[in-house]
Amino acid sequence: MDFDVIVVGGGLVGSAFAAALEDSAFHVALVEAKPPGPPSGQSWDARVYAISPGNQAFLASLGAWARIPDIRVAPVHGMDVRGDGGGRLRFDALGAGLSELAFILESGQLGHALWRGLDQQANLARFCGASPHALRFEDTHARLELSDGRSLRARLIVGADGARSWVRAAAGIEADPREYGQLGVVANFETAKPHGHLARQWFREDGILAFLPLPGNRVSIVWSTPEPHARALLALDEAAFCQRVREAGNDALGALTLLTPAAGFPLRLLSLPSLVRPRLALIGDAAHNVHPLAGQGVNLGFHDARCLAATLKAAGPERDCGDHLGLRRYDRARKEDILAMQLVTDGLEKLFRVRHPLVKWGRNRGLDLTNRQDWLKNALVRHALS
Ligand SMILES: Cc1cc2nc3c(=O)[nH]c(=O)nc-3n(C[C@H](O)[C@H](O)[C@H](O)COP(=O)(O)OP(=O)(O)OC[C@H]3O[C@@H](n4cnc5c(N)ncnc54)[C@H](O)[C@@H]3O)c2cc1C
Repeated sequence: MDFDVIVVGGGLVGSAFAAALEDSAFHVALVEAKPPGPPSGQSWDARVYAISPGNQAFLASLGAWARIPDIRVAPVHGMDVRGDGGGRLRFDALGAGLSELAFILESGQLGHALWRGLDQQANLARFCGASPHALRFEDTHARLELSDGRSLRARLIVGADGARSWVRAAAGIEADPREYGQLGVVANFETAKPHGHLARQWFREDGILAFLPLPGNRVSIVWSTPEPHARALLALDEAAFCQRVREAGNDALGALTLLTPAAGFPLRLLSLPSLVRPRLALIGDAAHNVHPLAGQGVNLGFHDARCLAATLKAAGPERDCGDHLGLRRYDRARKEDILAMQLVTDGLEKLFRVRHPLVKWGRNRGLDLTNRQDWLKNALVRHALS
């Protein structure tokens, strides 16, 4: 079975990339071990993302955004960041001349919307429930053997198979992630008070807690915290967990009622010297992992998908899409954005971990100072919009 491009991994980033190739002359294969099922209309998915307006426009151009019910999407009109010593930084969409800073929605809703769009895609063949077994790179092609015995061939393999990427390992790319020793504890709550479409974040001694507004009086939390503390939180009974989150969030939204049980995800930093090899490109979490304190992981992945699809389409079908020189264009175009996000998130995480009173004083005054510089805040907002 011959293709131009084989994408391994049909998560949010892999399926968005496959969809972005719909209007191209490429023949595309998508291999996904566990395709997403329809999301539940009743319950709320614990995995929730803040999608930037630029990526919302990208998802709209793929037709995926229109498939997500409006009642499952919450716009973010402002953001309130609190330091651990009285510092405060506030972003406001209206103040920056915008209607919203981001959109909050569930992973399951978005995954299903993207996946359904692929149903009608004429230039795409999906291999679902299949897992790759062996990968071989030859001069003119790469060959992927599936565990059910089928063999696929393409000029380019795209690894979109997440943080523990099989493709990355099979291609012999060494990844040496730095574990933060933290879990991101996620859960959804019903709140006594309205959130006012404000995202809230607290830098605390025990980690970083974020409240993301969901539709109605609901919020989703991400509490990035050292593993022992995360395990202790996950072991609490429902009432005690609600009370702990309420207190940690300065009682900002009153009493909390648990909607979705808490779950913990390990946090790590992964940075690769290159996202490409001859006949191979990596996108999404297979290519980089960032701390979730800025809620930018999947946004970076969508940028990869946009950039790689645009690079391949600009070169055209006559050009060998697995050619290393062409792929390096994608690598160069993405490097700065990924590095900048990793430096900012990793730097902030480290800065707020230091216990020294002078450092604590300095970082909180830094938040206050930034808060008074409208030009700086607007520049930060504009960067986060893309
Ligand atoms: C606690 C936490 C909170 C976060 N919050 C945010 C946020 O608010 N905003 C944000 O932008 N990002 C956030 N992120 C980051 C975000 O979750 C990831 O960046 C995003 O899910 C990566 O998507 P992906 O498609 O690259 O990988 P994945 O979502 O991991 O998808 C990989 C896909 O590949 C498939 N697969 C894997 N192996 C194989 C194989 N061998 N064969 C076939 N298929 C395979 C899997 O089934 C899956 O469908 C958060 C992360 C954490 C841990």
